[in-house]
Amino acid sequence: MADERQEQLRAYVEYFRDMGVHDFYRVGEPVEGGVYAEAAVAAVEVPAVVAVPSAVAAARVAAALSVVSPEIAKPSVLEPSMAKLLSFDALAPLPEVRVADAGKAAALKAIQEEIGDCTRCPLAYAGRRKIVFGDGDAKARLMFVGEGPGADEDETGVPFVGKAGQLLNNMIAAMGLKREEVYIANIVKCRPPSNRVPEPVEANTCTQFLVRQLDVVQPEVVVALGTTAAMYLLGVKQSLSGLRGRWHSCRGAKLVVTYHPAFLLRDPRQKGEAWKDLQMVMAEMGLKSPAKG
Ligand code: URA
Repeated sequence: MADERQEQLRAYVEYFRDMGVHDFYRVGEPVEGGVYAEAAVAAVEVPAVVAVPSAVAAARVAAALSVVSPEIAKPSVLEPSMAKLLSFDALAPLPEVRVADAGKAAALKAIQEEIGDCTRCPLAYAGRRKIVFGDGDAKARLMFVGEGPGADEDETGVPFVGKAGQLLNNMIAAMGLKREEVYIANIVKCRPPSNRVPEPVEANTCTQFLVRQLDVVQPEVVVALGTTAAMYLLGVKQSLSGLRGRWHSCRGAKLVVTYHPAFLLRDPRQKGEAWKDLQMVMAEMGLKSPAKG
């Protein structure tokens, strides 16, 4: 736990350094030895791509963590814009000129190249191995959006390849589709440490690229997998039960919300409910379940 907090603080310090912020101020009572300032400096001196801070820096950050108030760890000056929840429709107008089918794969590649070896948010410094851009048919009629990569995805660079991915593959097959026929992406493209939920600053930094992926693929239907995907795509903080069972809209597509496959692995009794959501999609898209052989 302490390691995780250490890692988070270090990631925040490095993130602000990348943004050109080098001065850190302590609020509240002075602390013996100015330990926070030392920790900030120590962390700032760690090279940007080194995942593990030096033992000295780690010890200083650990000491700092025992005295740093939450307001210092996440400066409030950056909170309002970063924490603001906007739907994907509100983030940007739809492009006036739509990418034609023939240009979609190249357009996705261009977005991926622009992302490059991204260091735009703290996840770049939180042990990420591979950036998980997205996978599938650039011309897909159906797009699934999950939360963020897990360990298997971080290892391979491909979304939904672990246990939850196997269940997603089964869900796709039950809809009469092949995985290669759909497009799959996540709210964040880098694995959050210990698979925690992405922080708003991480999601809000990353979603600009997902908006563009959606605008290139132009699916007819989007399936939001779980609360995090639904919250960012729709810009609402609402329970999954309040969002399921009806159509929403997202970047010109119809959007349905269903359970995240990882949740279904933990509570398989909800698979029937998820199947109802997928049947809504199938009816909309004119898909038929493959005949059981
Ligand atoms: N969970 C997600 O939300 N996305 C993945 O890619 C894998 C697991």
